[in-house]
Amino acid sequence: MDDWSILPGRLIVVSGPSGSGKSTLVRLALERPEVRARLSVSATTRAMRPGEHEGREYYFLSRESFETQRDLGHFLESAEVHGNFYGTPAGPVRSALAEGQCVMLEIDVQGALLVREKVPSAVLIFVQVPSLEELEARLRARKTDSEATIARRLTNARWELDQAGLYDHQLMNRELDQAVDDLVSHLIRHGCGG
Ligand code: ADP
Ligand code: 5GP
Repeated sequence: MDDWSILPGRLIVVSGPSGSGKSTLVRLALERPEVRARLSVSATTRAMRPGEHEGREYYFLSRESFETQRDLGHFLESAEVHGNFYGTPAGPVRSALAEGQCVMLEIDVQGALLVREKVPSAVLIFVQVPSLEELEARLRARKTDSEATIARRLTNARWELDQAGLYDHQLMNRELDQAVDDLVSHLIRHGCGG
C-alpha cells in the first residue's frame, strides 16, 4: 500500500459546495507572502471555459484518456462531479510532499473523503456559505454556468453540506477578507508558512 502519510510535506484539502468560494479563497491565500504552498492542478473531462488554459486551471482530457490514467492508478483520487470526471494527478503531489512542501488540493467533497482514507495526515478544510440562497446568488453572479448546471450544483450542495462534520476545520466564507485571513491562519498553523 502507498504510504503517503510518511512523506514530510503537508497535504491541505479545501473543499465545499460549488460556488462557496473555494477557488477565490485559495487563490488569494496563495498570494499572501507569509504562505508557502503550491496548488495541485487537476485533470478533468469537462470542456475548457473561456479564459482557461491547458495545464493552468486544469489538464483537459478526453473521457477515454481520463479513464486510462485512472485505471493505471495515476490519480491520488478521482470523482465524477456534476457529470464530468475530475482527478488529482498523484505524481506531482507525491514529489512535492517528498520535498517537504505544502500542497493544496481544491477538490469536491467525494474527493476529499477519498484523500482522507489514503492520506490520514491530510488536513481537510470545508468552506461554508452563510445560506443556500447566498450560494445560489454566488453561482449566478459568477456567470459561468447555465440554469440547469446551477440547479444540479445546488442539489449536490445539500449532500455536500451534510458531510461537513467529517472535516477538520469549518471555514465560513461570509466576508471575503476575513475568510482569507482564516484560511491563511490554518495554513500557517499546519506548517505552510514561509
Ligand atoms: P468555488 O470555487 O467554490 O466554486 P468561486 O471561488 O468560483 O467558488 O466563487 C463563486 C462566486 O462567488 C465567484 O463569483 C466569487 O467571486 C464569489 N465570492 C467568493 N467569495 C465571496 C464572498 N465572501 N462574498 C461574495 N461573493 C463571493
Ligand atoms: P469546476 O468545473 O467548476 O472547475 O469544478 C467543479 C468541481 O470539481 C468543484 O467542486 C471542484 O472543487 C471539483 N474538482 C476540481 N478538481 C478536482 C479533483 O481533482 N478531484 C475532485 N474530486 N474534484 C475536483
